[in-house]
Amino acid sequence: MPCRMTSNILTRSCTLIVLLGFWSGSLGQNQSTLFRECMRSQLGQLFQESLVSIPGDIGYATRLGWSFQPDPNDHPVAFVDCTDVIHIQKAIICAKQESIGVCPRCGGHSRIGSGMCSGIVVDVWQLKQFLPSSDNTTVIIGAGLTLGELVYRLSTKMNRIFPVGHSPSVGTSGFLLAGGFSELANDLGLGCDNVLEFRLVNASGTKITANRNTRPDVYWASCGGGGGRLGVVYQMTLKVHPTSRYDKHVGFIASFSNSSWMPAYLEWLYNWQEHNLSILSRSTIDISRSSTEARVTLRGACVDSLSSQNCRGRFQASGVYQFPWTPSLTPNTKSIQYLQWISGTSVTSDPLGYFNTGGVSHGRGMTMRSSDAVTAVSFKYSIGQTPPRQFFVDFFTFVDQTCRAPGMVRCSILFQNLGRGITNIGPRASAVYGLRLAKQWISFRVQGANLAMSEHVKDVLRNYLAPHSLSAFINYEDRGLRNISVGYYGLDASRMIKVNKRMDPTHTFLSKQPLF
Ligand SMILES: Cc1cc2nc3c(=O)[nH]c(=O)nc-3n(C[C@H](O)[C@H](O)[C@H](O)COP(=O)(O)OP(=O)(O)OC[C@H]3O[C@@H](n4cnc5c(N)ncnc54)[C@H](O)[C@@H]3O)c2cc1C
Repeated sequence: MPCRMTSNILTRSCTLIVLLGFWSGSLGQNQSTLFRECMRSQLGQLFQESLVSIPGDIGYATRLGWSFQPDPNDHPVAFVDCTDVIHIQKAIICAKQESIGVCPRCGGHSRIGSGMCSGIVVDVWQLKQFLPSSDNTTVIIGAGLTLGELVYRLSTKMNRIFPVGHSPSVGTSGFLLAGGFSELANDLGLGCDNVLEFRLVNASGTKITANRNTRPDVYWASCGGGGGRLGVVYQMTLKVHPTSRYDKHVGFIASFSNSSWMPAYLEWLYNWQEHNLSILSRSTIDISRSSTEARVTLRGACVDSLSSQNCRGRFQASGVYQFPWTPSLTPNTKSIQYLQWISGTSVTSDPLGYFNTGGVSHGRGMTMRSSDAVTAVSFKYSIGQTPPRQFFVDFFTFVDQTCRAPGMVRCSILFQNLGRGITNIGPRASAVYGLRLAKQWISFRVQGANLAMSEHVKDVLRNYLAPHSLSAFINYEDRGLRNISVGYYGLDASRMIKVNKRMDPTHTFLSKQPLF
């Protein structure tokens, strides 16, 4: 449209822009073609046309939509749908030959679109191996499984459980490399605490393994350092757990709307020793411009619990009934029902089907970025000190006012008290820092009139808690974080940077949040 203007200068600059666009477009096209030809010659008979999608191919547009939060600035040179580790190796070799960067992708659920880039997207989604050990305690998985597929296979083939997160379509690789957080982690540890070995292709295209004894630094950094920095993971060995403690459980949900109660609720929650009662829960406070009162919801389960009466007894012991609500309690008998319950949906007659179909790869992909902004912090008021009620009064008042500012739509603030599964491991034992030391995980999900507003309000809320926050949590990548390395890794920052530099000195891997 602007190029229709008649002024001479404008006409000339418009011509230049069009030419530049054409030139850079054809440069991109050339790079894409050269990359595909390199793959063809490197792989010989192993090359298949469906392996590489470049601009102009039908499959290219489809793959652009395989992100949960696509970044409109990303224009991939090519997508590689790897079905074998050799494809990853050759993709890295060809990318380097053509001086193009690489980003791995698994489930595409990064909240800042980290699984896509203006380079080669090395997608591992088709690596779906599932090889249980003979004693049923560990399993080797392909890096492309989604969490839903993992749950389904563990349940049907091994009768085992793993601390997965909330959405079946999240990729196992991205989830585990960034820690992997859930209510179940309070018992079983973060997802990555249960990875015994990572197998990856490094920035030179070589296969390497990392475990406690072999390349311990890479193993350390792979647990919570975040994906896409050290190499492309193609396989992992997981420790899996018996389901017995979670089979008999009582799912519960309770909520009320009344803003004046919120400080008291937050104070009680902070001090609640739920883990001692075998209760695994999360609380959410919703603040919406369409309602004058904030609403709190407590959702979770009494695990290892035979009856509603038993769960009610645990609530009575811990003061749940002091609040104006009547929790709804539902006893169940299968751990798969527990997993469906904490994923945020109601328990259906076919929970296995929920994980199987909900876990289809890239199932929740989108072509446009939403206007939501998200962050999560590891919160502890201060070491050895219980926060006074006034702290919670001020905190809630601040959040309530900020989330009701003109142009805001809503905020959800999620709280999870951290259990021993997470905090019994030291902050220097893996690249996960703050969660090991904190009392609570607090996540802000903000929806404003537009993305800029959401990002701004999310930053304001995160900064309010900064004096009491040990680090941000990288599974909820926060694009507004100022000092990325210390922000995510706290005192682990320099070690993380060192490992990253050693593994990828020339930035073969294109990170949206580079550490150096
Ligand atoms: C709806 C939803 C629910 C979520 N629920 C939870 C939850 O309950 N708990 C939690 O902890 N997190 C949760 N998350 C966050 C999620 O776990 C992270 O965003 C995770 O990184 C996504 O992994 P992915 O493979 O799906 O994403 P991708 O976008 O494919 O990858 C994420 C990052 O990992 C890298 N990566 C992917 N595969 C590989 C590989 N094979 N080798 C090396 N690097 C790789 C990518 O380059 C990118 O940097 C949720 C996110 C969404 C959108």
